[in-house]
Amino acid sequence: MMKELENMIYTVHKEHLIQLAKKYGTPLYVYDSFKIKKQYIKMIKAFSGIKNIIINYACKANTNLNILKFLQKLGSGLDTVSIQEVELGLKAGFHPKKIIFTPNCVSIQEVKKAVNLGVRINLDNLSVLEQFGECYPDYSIGIRINPHIMAGGNYKISVGHIDSKFGISYYQIPHMKRILKNTGLKIEGLHMHTGSDISDIKSFLEGAKILFKTAIDFPNIDYIDFGSGFKVPYTKNDIKTDLTSLSKEITEKFKDFCTSYGHQITLIFEPGKFLVSESGYFLVSVNVIKHTTSTVFAGVDSGFNHFIRPMFYDAYHYIENISNPNGRFRFYTVVGYICESDTFGFNRKITEIREGDILCLKNAGAYCFSMSSNYNSRYRPSEIMILNGKDFIIRKRETMQDILRNIVEIDI
Ligand SMILES: *Cc1c(COP(=O)(O)O)cnc(C)c1O
Repeated sequence: MMKELENMIYTVHKEHLIQLAKKYGTPLYVYDSFKIKKQYIKMIKAFSGIKNIIINYACKANTNLNILKFLQKLGSGLDTVSIQEVELGLKAGFHPKKIIFTPNCVSIQEVKKAVNLGVRINLDNLSVLEQFGECYPDYSIGIRINPHIMAGGNYKISVGHIDSKFGISYYQIPHMKRILKNTGLKIEGLHMHTGSDISDIKSFLEGAKILFKTAIDFPNIDYIDFGSGFKVPYTKNDIKTDLTSLSKEITEKFKDFCTSYGHQITLIFEPGKFLVSESGYFLVSVNVIKHTTSTVFAGVDSGFNHFIRPMFYDAYHYIENISNPNGRFRFYTVVGYICESDTFGFNRKITEIREGDILCLKNAGAYCFSMSSNYNSRYRPSEIMILNGKDFIIRKRETMQDILRNIVEIDI
């Protein structure tokens, strides 16, 4: 299968995207399932030197049920952060043991629901660990460790650390062990997710080293989960995680670890962005061109209600005018129709934009639709999946009924 895939060069073309915009209207999300498959296989291949490797798709990136089903069919597991994501995963056909529930700051009641659904659980705080151990001493769990990695490899607790609310501190392991002993609870795996882009392989390896060291104290674990942090390029020259050197280093170190540990365990990664980001295209129509004293604005039929990353994270998303690809390059600030400033791209060089043109925002597969809202009482867009060269609608555009669905009108 892999050879065959490598030889395929199917990519979504501009003409195809324009056809889809015409057929389904804008704003529109389009996902190319082939790209997801390619990324999944790229990751599996990179770590093929490891006997037991599992990729768990971190589904908060894109929870459309069809995306989940597609990844399930490829053989992926699932990383979930809410009980609703767990339920979606089960609905998509994932075996409960292929789903890991890694919540943060949820109530013990939510964790209990996950136990009832039979999924794997990964806890990240001592209070819940203690409560859990008292209720379910026989339900082995994973532990999310916060390795406190700083760039440069100093193991330091840093109050200002971006991930400080996540994980059980590496320094609290003695307390954690006491809780395990008191409750009889067993650990099946160790986990870390630093959340940062792994552009610096060294600090990632420092984290790995801490997990290996911690694991020695727990002789019966089944897996080590290195989380994610795989970065994909957002522009042509953007940096991305160097998967080749990362996998080489990790494979070597993991093998050495298994030898000294005494048995083969499973290595897990849980990428979200890496698998789905580049598969997505967000298509919008240009409503107005507006010249001000300093700027030419292109105002489109969407806003941060549909696509919030540029406004929320200052994320850069490449914007292309796909309906006038050969026009002269000019500078535009592309903005949305929300009554607040919502800028998709500031001062961008784009081929001439006319009213009615269709713009395409790239890298729209991860954290785009899944972060959308109904702000300004706008409908959320529909989603299209391209599967084996055919387009399928996988989510209908909303209507006024959706906006009013849970409203209870009272006599006023
Ligand atoms: C969000 C998340 C991921 C995925 O992160 P990406 O940057 O999208 O790859 C993985 N693991 C956990 C626990 C997460 O919360």
